[in-house]
Amino acid sequence: MPGALRPANGQAHRASLFLQNSTGGLPKPAARAVPFCATMLSRFTPYRDVPGLLSRSRRDFLRDTTGMALGSALVGGSPFLHGQAVQRKRKMIVVTFGGGARDQETFAPEGQGNIPHLLGELAPQSTFFTHMTNRGILGHYVATASLVTGVYETLNNFSATPPAHPTAFEYFRKDLRQPVSNAWVVAPSNGFNRIGESSSAGYGPGLGARVILPKHLLQAATAGRFGDLNHLLRDNYETPLFTPVLGGGEVELQQLERVLKLSVDDFSSHARTLSSPDELSVYVVKQLMRQQAPSLLWLTLHDIDVAHTGAFSLYLQAIQRTDRLCAELWNFVQSEPEYRDNTTMFILPDFGRDADFATGGNGFQHHRTGDAASRTTWMMALGAGVRQGVVYDNPVQPIDLVPTLGSMMGFAASRAQGRPIAELL
Ligand SMILES: [Zn+2]
Repeated sequence: MPGALRPANGQAHRASLFLQNSTGGLPKPAARAVPFCATMLSRFTPYRDVPGLLSRSRRDFLRDTTGMALGSALVGGSPFLHGQAVQRKRKMIVVTFGGGARDQETFAPEGQGNIPHLLGELAPQSTFFTHMTNRGILGHYVATASLVTGVYETLNNFSATPPAHPTAFEYFRKDLRQPVSNAWVVAPSNGFNRIGESSSAGYGPGLGARVILPKHLLQAATAGRFGDLNHLLRDNYETPLFTPVLGGGEVELQQLERVLKLSVDDFSSHARTLSSPDELSVYVVKQLMRQQAPSLLWLTLHDIDVAHTGAFSLYLQAIQRTDRLCAELWNFVQSEPEYRDNTTMFILPDFGRDADFATGGNGFQHHRTGDAASRTTWMMALGAGVRQGVVYDNPVQPIDLVPTLGSMMGFAASRAQGRPIAELL
C-alpha cells in the first residue's frame, strides 16, 4: 500500500542510546534515551536534530553490521596508498544510486536485507559518509546537475537546459587537456541529454563529456519496432509531460558502432535479455569501459524512482537490483586491466525520499516535502586512495563531490561552491 508504514524487524536500534560525537572520545548519553529507528523518523523526533539522528543511526548500523571503524578515531596521515603512479593513471567513476531510497529500506536494521552487496561487499572496502545533506532542489535532473557542477543549480528540472556552472567534465578536460574520449556520462532518460556540459562562459560546448542515453540508443537500434522492449524504454517515472524528443537516430547508431563497437543486432538482442533500464545502462557502461576506458565516467541509475508509481514491491525490487548492479560494476572494475587498482568509485543517491509521516508527503513514493529524510543521504567511496572500512558522520554536501574529484585528479573546480572532503585527500 503506498505510503504504508513498513514493519520493522523488531531489532532494537541502539543509535540514540549513546551518541558518540565525531571528534571521538567516550560515548556520552543522548539528551533523551529513546531508541531510534528509521521508520520512526519524523513522528517521534519533530524537535530533535533529525539529520544528525539519521546520520548517527546509519553510522552505528554500519559499525554494528560491518565492523567499520569510526573515522575520527583513526590517526595517521593521508590514506593514499599508491602515490604518484596512481595519481597519473587514476580513474574516477561516479554512480548515483537509483533515484534515492530511504534508510528503512536500506541502511537500517529493517532494510538491510535489500542491500546485501552494499553491506557485505562494498561498505567494508569503503570510506562511508553518513551525513550528506542536500540543500538544493529535489528533482532528479537539477539535483544531478548540482552534483556534476558542485553548485546548487536552479534550472527547471523538466527542461532541456544545460547546467549554468561548469561541470566536472569541463574542469577535467580543460584544466588537464583531456580529449573528448576521456569523459562520459551514461544517463537514464532523454531529459539528461544536456548534463555533459554547461552554458558557463569559458567552458561549455566542446569541453564537456559525451552523453550516452541507452534508451535512445535502443530506440534507434530497434527503429520503432520495440516488441517486448517497452519495459526498458520508459523515459522517466515522475511525469509523462516532459519527454524531450531527440533527433539523430543515425548519430546514435554511429555511437553504437564506433564508440561501443557493438553491432545493432548484437545490441538489440542483448537488450532483450535485460530486465530493466538500469541493467541496460550498466551493459552500456561496461562496453564503454572496454572500448574507451574513460578516466572520468558518470553513471546515473534510476530504476528505484519507479517508487513514484506507488508500487512498494517494485521499489524494493529496484533497490535490490541497484545493490546488485553496484557490486557488479565494482567487480567489473577489478577485472579490467585499465581500471583495476587505479580506480576510485563513488556511490551516492542524488537525494532521498519522504518520511512516512512528513506532512504533505507520501512516504517512499515521492520526494516532495523537502523533509530531513529526503535531504539527508550518504556517500560511499571505495578503491584507489581510499581508506577501507571507515565511517564518518561529519556533515558533507553533494556539492563537495566535484571539488573532491578535482583534488584527487588534479583539476581546480574554481566555480564550485562546495569544498574538497578532507577525509578523502
Ligand atoms: Zn523521483
